[in-house]
Amino acid sequence: MTDPTPHPLAKYFQPSYQASRLQLLASLRSLAPRLGVTIDSRALVERGPSGETLALDFCIVGAAKPRHALLISSGTHGVEGFTGSAVQQWIAQTLLPTLQLAPHTAIILQHANNPYGFAWHRRVNEANVDINRNFLLHYDPALCEPGYEALLENINPTQWDQDSEAANSIAFAQFTEAHGFRALQQALSAGQYKYPKGIQFGGSSEQQSTRHLRHLFRQHLSACETLIWLDFHTGLGEFAACELITGAMPDTDNYRFSNQIWSQGVKSAQSGESVSAKLNGLLDQGLLAELPTTCKRAFAFPEYGTYPPTQVLNTMRADNWLEQHGEPRNLNNPRTAAIKKEILEAFKPDSREWEHCIVEHGAGLVREALAYLPGVK
Ligand SMILES: [Zn+2]
Repeated sequence: MTDPTPHPLAKYFQPSYQASRLQLLASLRSLAPRLGVTIDSRALVERGPSGETLALDFCIVGAAKPRHALLISSGTHGVEGFTGSAVQQWIAQTLLPTLQLAPHTAIILQHANNPYGFAWHRRVNEANVDINRNFLLHYDPALCEPGYEALLENINPTQWDQDSEAANSIAFAQFTEAHGFRALQQALSAGQYKYPKGIQFGGSSEQQSTRHLRHLFRQHLSACETLIWLDFHTGLGEFAACELITGAMPDTDNYRFSNQIWSQGVKSAQSGESVSAKLNGLLDQGLLAELPTTCKRAFAFPEYGTYPPTQVLNTMRADNWLEQHGEPRNLNNPRTAAIKKEILEAFKPDSREWEHCIVEHGAGLVREALAYLPGVK
């Protein structure tokens, strides 16, 4: 007889942004009497598909102004948020009920860094901006990889059909033949600041989420002496495999402390040792700069693989075509529904096995982090 629940940890995945948010807040409310819970919610002007509030929830369990904190964040890339949220649900429902925290220690669940993209199944936010390319002090409207410029019309086509896609894939193949796959990846993922309606736009100004996050860090983490932080992502790498990526260079204390904590090791996107390309305006680089300079910090983007890079990229291109040339808010339009289904699948496969593996692995990363967090029993 087969086990009726072969993938028990899949239950932490929720079906929507709204369900994820409500479930997490309900779980935290039940912990409040014993551990103390402070929730600082920052709502956006925009609404979700069911008219629901879209908010970034900064949920602090334990010390309201912690000296030592483990921070788990989700949804920087909108639709990728189901996964980080599932790990947060595991923490709230399974880990925290049995955990003892010293008076100066906190576990922080930062839910939905990009709530609009999470709710509407986009990687980018309400202004077509990738939040994880928006943490800059200056936005240079000329900044764009030469390879992106060369392939501009292929990356961001005005039509979406079989014939034009066949021609576009030939253009990508020729570029790869001439310059190599890493050059294509660099062109497509570094972030660009020149084409607001193109994919991988990093913005021309500080976004709502970026401003809220900087403020939340300044307001709640100004006394921090230790911060260990994981920001969950999906869509890059082998199916269900995980790479820990950091924006820090290998010769930094942050990089060394991160490698000490996580046994699988972290890889720097900036030095070429990661599957990721070198990226502009990263969240970790922007927000860690808001901490006291004396704060000991560790950081990683756990990046969980789903499907081959071309397939994932094509769902992002299709979604961007839909946004610029289709009916993106009309979920009853069959074409809209088909593209939305594909982008969801690319970043959150419809597989209980994948979901179970990711929560199991993410829980392991959290447990490794707790071993280095002062004030946890
Ligand atoms: Zn991501």
